[in-house]
Amino acid sequence: MSETCFCGKPAIIFLHYASKALCEQHFVYMFDKRFRKTIREYKLLKKGDRIAIGLSGGKDSCVLLHSLAEIKKSLPIELVAVTIDEGIKGYRDKTLKIAKRECEAFGIEHVVFSYQGDVGKTMDEIVAGSPEDIPCSNCGVLRRYLLNRGAREVGANKLATGHNLDDIAQMVFMNFMRNEPSRLARFNEPMVKSDRLIPRIRPLMRTPEKEVAIYAMLKGIELESMECPYARFAFRGHVRKMVNEAEEKYPGTKFKIVNTFFEIEDTLRDKYGKGAALNSCSSCGEPCSKEICMYCKKLTIITSKS
Ligand SMILES: [Zn+2]
Ligand SMILES: [Zn+2]
Repeated sequence: MSETCFCGKPAIIFLHYASKALCEQHFVYMFDKRFRKTIREYKLLKKGDRIAIGLSGGKDSCVLLHSLAEIKKSLPIELVAVTIDEGIKGYRDKTLKIAKRECEAFGIEHVVFSYQGDVGKTMDEIVAGSPEDIPCSNCGVLRRYLLNRGAREVGANKLATGHNLDDIAQMVFMNFMRNEPSRLARFNEPMVKSDRLIPRIRPLMRTPEKEVAIYAMLKGIELESMECPYARFAFRGHVRKMVNEAEEKYPGTKFKIVNTFFEIEDTLRDKYGKGAALNSCSSCGEPCSKEICMYCKKLTIITSKS
């Protein structure tokens, strides 16, 4: 490992995919530049946007908040942070505190929606009823639904999430391995546009997870490294390990996976977008592709268990 940055200062990171050692100052410069370039290249933001930031209080969403607050200094946009409180003692209450503090530091409005208020039960109560039936994918359905509705309720026209390069690379592989190309096709954009579905943007999608963590540390963002106590990411865990091992052996693999996805995305959308329809859930009225939305389905299961 080369130990000095091109400027002569001691390096704090070596980017294997670029064979480059960077000092703190040049790492931050590169990070910020890539963030702005991603926004520009993928046209993620425009003047007058009101952006809801999905703020969990973890490192990714806190860095996203920080970086978007920087962008706001030169681009007239509005920011509002939205947190979904699942009601998990010892975990979400900690990250919720971090989220609150970060919003206060940047003077950003913060709105919290909770499982307690919307689902009628905290995650702790749901899991106590039937732990085996509530894997992360179910919780993900509830969270995504509440995030979309929450973003709409706070008047946002876009929802920004903290997904990083690693998340996207893992998502691509998981969809490949589950043979779900149609899900891949609508990952970035729903097949049918609806003003009830808030478009998502992922400005950190070209930033490796490790670099988000280092940036968070350098910017003094408090890190809560604890994972959700209910996390059962067996399959995702396998894919994460696989992708990380490939990256270590062949630096740049994560970028290549994600670039390939962006390359084939339009073709996938052409193929799987035909005949896509959007209905309204007959129970809650939210947009969905079937008669009843996934949220209402899960809700029925959850509330019938106890
Ligand atoms: Zn330097
Ligand atoms: Zn519904």
